[in-house]
Amino acid sequence: MEYARLVGAYENIDATTKRLEMTGHLVELFRETPPDLIDRVVYLSQGKLYPDFVGIEMGMDEKLAIRSLSLSSGYSESKIESEWKRSGDLGLTAAEVLKERKQVTLFREPLTVEKVYGNLEKIARATGPGSQYLKVKLLADLLGNASPDEAKYVMKAVTGKLRLGVADMTILDALAIAFADAKEARSEIERAYNLSSDLGMVAGMLAKHGLGAIKDFKITVGKPIRPMLAERLTSIEEIIEKTGGRCAAEYKYDGLRVQAHVSSEITLFSRRLENITGQFPDVCDALLKSIRAKEAIVEGECVPVNVETGEMLPFQQISHRRGRKHGVREAVEEFPVILFLFDCLYVDGEDLTGEDLLNRRERLKEIVEESARVKISDLVVTDDPRVFGSFFEKAIGDGCEGLLAKSIGADSRYRAGARGWQWIKYKRDYKSEMIDTIDLVAVGAFAGRGRRTGTYGALLMAAYDPDEDVFKTVCKLGAGFDDETLAKLPTLFKEYLIEHTHPRVRSELKPDYWLTPSFVLEVLGAEITLSPIHTCGLDAIREGSGLAIRFPRFTGTWRDDKSPEDATTVQEVVEMYERQLKRV
Ligand code: ATP
Repeated sequence: MEYARLVGAYENIDATTKRLEMTGHLVELFRETPPDLIDRVVYLSQGKLYPDFVGIEMGMDEKLAIRSLSLSSGYSESKIESEWKRSGDLGLTAAEVLKERKQVTLFREPLTVEKVYGNLEKIARATGPGSQYLKVKLLADLLGNASPDEAKYVMKAVTGKLRLGVADMTILDALAIAFADAKEARSEIERAYNLSSDLGMVAGMLAKHGLGAIKDFKITVGKPIRPMLAERLTSIEEIIEKTGGRCAAEYKYDGLRVQAHVSSEITLFSRRLENITGQFPDVCDALLKSIRAKEAIVEGECVPVNVETGEMLPFQQISHRRGRKHGVREAVEEFPVILFLFDCLYVDGEDLTGEDLLNRRERLKEIVEESARVKISDLVVTDDPRVFGSFFEKAIGDGCEGLLAKSIGADSRYRAGARGWQWIKYKRDYKSEMIDTIDLVAVGAFAGRGRRTGTYGALLMAAYDPDEDVFKTVCKLGAGFDDETLAKLPTLFKEYLIEHTHPRVRSELKPDYWLTPSFVLEVLGAEITLSPIHTCGLDAIREGSGLAIRFPRFTGTWRDDKSPEDATTVQEVVEMYERQLKRV
C-alpha cells in the first residue's frame, strides 16, 4: 500500500476538529487498507509502532533526524537547524527542504506503508554501538524516496511528534463502520479492545476474520485488560442504596494499582498499562510463590510498608520505586511493598470477567496462598450503614484512603475499561467541608509576569468528557506551585506546545500557549461555582453557564499514573456541584 494514501488521510484528519469527520476519513482509509496491513496502519495513525504496553516508543533524537535530512537533501545541518528554529516543527522543515532538494535521486521508488513501518521499527529497536549511524541511514533511506508531504509525516512520526488527535474511541467507531454493521458491532469490538488493550490486533482480527472472530475473542495472558474504575459518593446511605441495598465494602488501599499476568513468568502492568515488571522484582518473586495456578490474571494494589511494624506508609514512598532502570535492588530494600489482591480475572483458560464479584473472590482465595508480601484485600459484606461506617474508620486507622463499595448482585461482573456505579469509592476527604481533590488536564498556559517572568503564571485546566471524547476547561490554576516546579515548567512543556487549540479541547478562554493534553495534575479547590467562561458542564445546571473550581490549588502531585482520559470527568464535576448544593 502506498504511504501517500496514509498521508492523504492524515492531511484530511489534520484539517478537521470534528470527530465525525475524522471518523469518516478513517473509515475510508481502513476500507482501502489490505487486511494484513491494518494493524500497522492503526498504530501509525496514533504515532505508534505497537500498543502502549509493549513499551517501545519512537522518538529519534532531533539532531540525528536533522543529519538524515541533510544527507538526503544536500543541505547543511546548520541550515536545516536554523530553518527548524524558525518553523518550530521538524516535519514542516523536512517538507520545505525537500521541496527544493539539491540532491536529486533519479529513481525514486514510491514509499510503501510496509517500508515506512519497517524502517521506523528498525530505528526504534536499534541499540548499542553503531546504532546512531544505522538510525541516520534508515531515516535517510525513507526521506530520499519521500515526497515533501510524505517527508513531513515521516519526520513527525520518527521524532515522536505525530499527534493527529485520533483517540482510541474514534478508531473503534471507524472500525465498526468499516467492517461491520456499526451499531451491533461497536460494543463487541470495544469489548475485544478492553480485554486486550491492543487496537491494532483487534483491527487485524476484524478485517481478516470478521465480527465472528471478535465475538469469540479470548483473553490472552500477557496482554493487559483495561481496568475497571469506580464512581464516587459522599454519603454511606446513598452508596448502599446505589449498590442494591447490600454491598461488599473493601479497604481502599493507597498505593499503585497492579495487574499481574502469571504464567511461567510474571508480567506486571500499571493502571495505565505500562509494563512495570522490571521495577518490582520482589513482587514478581512473591507472586510466583503465592499463586497456585499455571496461568492467572489478578489485580491488586501495591502499598509501601514498614516491614518492622507492618504499617502501611504514605503513597508517595512508592514513587521511589517507579521509572527506575538502575538501583532497582537498592530501592527494593529501601522501599518494601505489600501487594493486596482484590480481583481475579482469569485462571487456567477460564475468563472470569463475566462472573459475579464474590465468585471471582472465591477463585482468588483458591489460587492465592497468602504470605508476608501477598495478601487478599480486607472486606465485609453489609447492608448496614453503621457497619460500613465503622469499617471505614478501621480502614483509615490502618492507613487506607477509605473504602470501595462494590456491588455484589447480578451486575457485578468485571467491566473492563469502564467507570461505573458497580464500584463506588468513599474517601476520608469527604468528611471535611472541602471538596475532594480532582485530577485535571493541562490544556493551555498563561505567560508569567513579575516573579514568574520566563515561566507560566497559570495553567488552563480541563476535565474529560468521555461522551464527546474532549477536554473541557474548568479553572485557571496558578496556586500551589513551588519555585522549583515553576522553573521546570517551560522545559517540561516544551514538546507539548502547539499553535492552535488542540482538536480535543473545548475552550472559550484563549491562553498564551496551547498544550497537547498530556499532563494530569491533582487539584484541590474550595468549592464549585457556576461560570460564564468555562466549558465544563456547560448548560448542565443552567443554560449558558459552565462550572468552575473556585480557589484551585495544585497539591504538588503530578498524576503521571493517569492518562488524560483518566482525569476527573465533566459528569463527576457536575455531580460534585449538585451534592455541594444539597449540603448547604
Ligand atoms: P483515586 O485517584 O481515587 O485513586 P483512580 O481514578 O485512580 O482514583 P478509581 O477507579 O476512581 O481510580 O478508584 C479505584 C482505585 O482504587 C483503583 O484504581 C485502585 O488503584 C485503588 N484501589 C485500592 N484498593 C482497592 C480495592 N480494594 N479494589 C479496587 N481498587 C482499589
